[in-house]
Amino acid sequence: MTCYNTVLRSPAKCSRCGTVQPLIARDADGTGVCGPCVGFAADYTCRQCGRAGNPHSRGRCAFCVLAERVNLLLAGADGVVPEQLQPLATALAAAPAPFQAIQWIRESPNSRLLARLVTEDRPLSHELLDELPPSRNQRYIRQLLVHTGTLGACNEGLERIPGWLGHELADKPAAHANLARPFLHWFLLRRARQRAAVRRYPASADRDLRRRVSVALELLAWLDQQQLALADLTQEHVDGWITGGPSQRRYLIRYFLSWTASRRLTRKLVVPSIPQQEPRPCSTRTTAGASSSAVSPTTPCPWTSEQPARSPCSSVRPQSGSAI
Ligand SMILES: [Zn+2]
Ligand SMILES: [Zn+2]
Repeated sequence: MTCYNTVLRSPAKCSRCGTVQPLIARDADGTGVCGPCVGFAADYTCRQCGRAGNPHSRGRCAFCVLAERVNLLLAGADGVVPEQLQPLATALAAAPAPFQAIQWIRESPNSRLLARLVTEDRPLSHELLDELPPSRNQRYIRQLLVHTGTLGACNEGLERIPGWLGHELADKPAAHANLARPFLHWFLLRRARQRAAVRRYPASADRDLRRRVSVALELLAWLDQQQLALADLTQEHVDGWITGGPSQRRYLIRYFLSWTASRRLTRKLVVPSIPQQEPRPCSTRTTAGASSSAVSPTTPCPWTSEQPARSPCSSVRPQSGSAI
């Protein structure tokens, strides 16, 4: 940014006339002076809001242009920003660096993804974001939505589980994936997020969820080996499978079987309580290489740090290159 632009974007009180203007000239003693006071009639007052400085285009300031672009980005077909997106609109429009924010809206892949989600015509939700392939942009948008209060609290560990599942399912039959995905998204994650919204979520929670999915995939693989359909699973099968396992982790199948029964994919099956609480040493491994360290459950969510006094947008920054 040139020095002149810096001056235009940081209006201050003129020492001669006392108005707030970009101080584009200097007195003999070096004090900043506005244009009109030195005979230069440039007018940097916004025609729309009356603010001095930050001129953008057609006589309007960058704040007014930004507000317009935010509206264009988030408004529905009726030209109105949906109520759900109002906190996001407010935060984006209040960006402390409006020129960079305008550039972000115009050029950032994150803003393009946001625009795409808005045109989906469905309320924004963690589930909607989960349907996207895991990426930095998807994570950024989730953090932005949580940070601005548009979506409920995020838990980094939980939000990475869909990406983990995608990896786990890469070599699994489509039929298994078609069961594991809804089981994770519509049963495990939904409940976990509801709990996380009202109380502190234990750091081990995401690992526990991964284990419940892994055990479900193990059962599905076993069913294939036995040439049994899920619908034909009996209590005897379940009891035998659980007790025939190398550890007590197969008791975790109760979550999957509870979900399959609720969907009428299986009959009601009873999984006894774990005879003794499973020990959880740090070295506990889950299946298929999903070590407990694959996702750090303690990674803090950068958007939920306690900084209530700050403008929501002031710390919302994309990965690199552009601002906001
Ligand atoms: Zn002046
Ligand atoms: Zn303005």
